Amino acid sequence: MKLLLVTALLGICCPFSFAQRAITNIQGDLYRFQNNAHYSVFLVTGKGVIATDPINEEAASWLKTQIKQRFNQPVKYVIYSHHHADHISGGQVFDEAVFVGHSLTKKAIAQENIDVPLPQKTFDDKMTLILGGKVVKLFYPGKSHSDNCIIMLFPQEKTIFAVDFISIKRLPYRTLNNSYFPDWMEAIKKVEALDFEVLAPGHGELGGKAEVTEHRKYLEALFTAVKQAHTQGQSLDDMKKTILLESYQHLGQYQAWREMNIEGVYNFLSGPSK
Ligand SMILES: [Zn+2]
Repeated sequence: MKLLLVTALLGICCPFSFAQRAITNIQGDLYRFQNNAHYSVFLVTGKGVIATDPINEEAASWLKTQIKQRFNQPVKYVIYSHHHADHISGGQVFDEAVFVGHSLTKKAIAQENIDVPLPQKTFDDKMTLILGGKVVKLFYPGKSHSDNCIIMLFPQEKTIFAVDFISIKRLPYRTLNNSYFPDWMEAIKKVEALDFEVLAPGHGELGGKAEVTEHRKYLEALFTAVKQAHTQGQSLDDMKKTILLESYQHLGQYQAWREMNIEGVYNFLSGPSK
C-alpha cells in the first residue's frame, strides 16, 4: 500500500519517468511483454520459460519478477530477434538462461561491442527449441532490417514474433536504417509462407497474415517507385513531392514517415551496400 502511494505521488510529479509495462496473453501459454514502445514475447512451459528480447535491464528485471510471481518458473532460454541494442539489452538479468541467436547476431554483437550476453546456441538457417513439450521454431529469412533478423514461430500458438522488419498497419520506421532491398521483401514472403494466425511485432499492435502482406506490398511499392525515379536521375526532393503512395495513406505514420522512407531507399540505392 505504501509503495503504491509513493508510486502514485511520483507519477503525478514526473509522469514520463515511469515505464509503461504490461503482460498480456496472446494465445495458450504465449504472452506479450510491453515496455513502452518495445515489445517481446515469452512462452511458459512446465520446465521453465522461453523468453525473447529482454529490451533493457530495468524491463528485464521487472519481467523476471513477474514471471516468477505469476508462473513460478525460471527463464531457461532467451532468444534474440536481431542485434539492435534497444531490443536485446538487459539479458544479464536472466542468469539461469541459455542465450540463443543467429550466428550473424552473435557476430554483430561482438563487432559492435554491445554489452549483452553473447548467444551460446546459434544457428544459420533454422533451429527448433523444445522445452517442457512446448516448441519454438527459428528461421533465418535472409537480410531485411539488419542482416540478422530472425522469425520466431510458436506453432502450437500459431503466432510469429518478428521484430523491426514487419510493422502492422504502420509505415516502417523513419529512414529504414541498416536495411537491405529487395532482400527485405523476400524475407517477409518467407513469413507469409508459414502457418500462423497472429503476428506479434516488436513495436505496435498485433496483426494477422493480411497485415503482413500489406506491409510487404507497401515496401515493394516504395522500393519500385524510388528505384525508378533514381534510375531517371530524379532528386530526393522531387521524389518526396511525387512519390505519394496514396493507397497506403490509411497506414499509421504515413504523414510523418513517408518522406523519410523514401529517403531511406534513396540512401540505400546511392550507397555502397546495394
Ligand atoms: Zn532493429
